Amino acid sequence: MDNILFGPAGYPTEARGNVKRVFQILRETGLNTLEYAAVHGLQTKEEKAKLIGELAKESGVSMSLHAAYYISLASRTPRVRETSKNRLVKALRFAPLMNVKRVVFHPGSLSGLTESEAHAVIKGALKSVWETAGEESSGAFLAPEIAGKLSGYGSVDQIIRLCQELEGCIPTIDWAHLYARSQGEINDKQSYLKILTEFEDELGELFVRNMHFHISGITFTEKGEVAHRPLGEDWGPDILPLIEVVREVGYTPTFISESTNPLQGALYAKFLFEELEKERK
Ligand SMILES: [Zn+2]
Repeated sequence: MDNILFGPAGYPTEARGNVKRVFQILRETGLNTLEYAAVHGLQTKEEKAKLIGELAKESGVSMSLHAAYYISLASRTPRVRETSKNRLVKALRFAPLMNVKRVVFHPGSLSGLTESEAHAVIKGALKSVWETAGEESSGAFLAPEIAGKLSGYGSVDQIIRLCQELEGCIPTIDWAHLYARSQGEINDKQSYLKILTEFEDELGELFVRNMHFHISGITFTEKGEVAHRPLGEDWGPDILPLIEVVREVGYTPTFISESTNPLQGALYAKFLFEELEKERK
């Protein structure tokens, strides 16, 4: 992917669930990516999935998919581990229909395991998911996300390790989650660059060519994330320095806005980017 892309997480509410209208709105507003929200499980029928894929292609909108929130690969309950894996398998199989290139998911909580135990269980689960459906995904990646809560599996190190050790795996960097995890520390150019450099050093081209970001405002406590908030208002993280770093280094990430109004958040980020571009001219 050669361009920086901006888009919302989920259908804009203005589309009132009308899928054609969704892509119309994206075109009209100049947004070029969408993260399809299957956050309550992928209930889409094949027919509908194909329609989404076709509309995305026609509109030049690049697609990712957010798999179910309640995936818990290291759950204490074997049945939950199994359904969690199945949800990812299904998402990978649906990916080509929907023209989806990234299946974003939260690995789940540590479930009382030590970090290394959880790592082994989650890695094993993802390995089996990839062996089952990796070939059917048509180049779509599994994209585990940085966790917002400290009790969740998904620190920078953990996500890097998973992506190093597994086939078909790229990171999703949720900057709001990182901000919450770090108690507001990761919030300026220097710290953004440090994180990006770490990912690049460890994962190389695979990371650089497939950078996938989530952005939004957030509230947090010492345990991490509490709730997502709008971008550009009273809540951190400050994403202007992030966009500055991205431009200066020449990275080309996909920015997915998980702001409380995702469409508005995506347009805000795009606006910041365009203002910086103007300054350069
Ligand atoms: Zn996220």
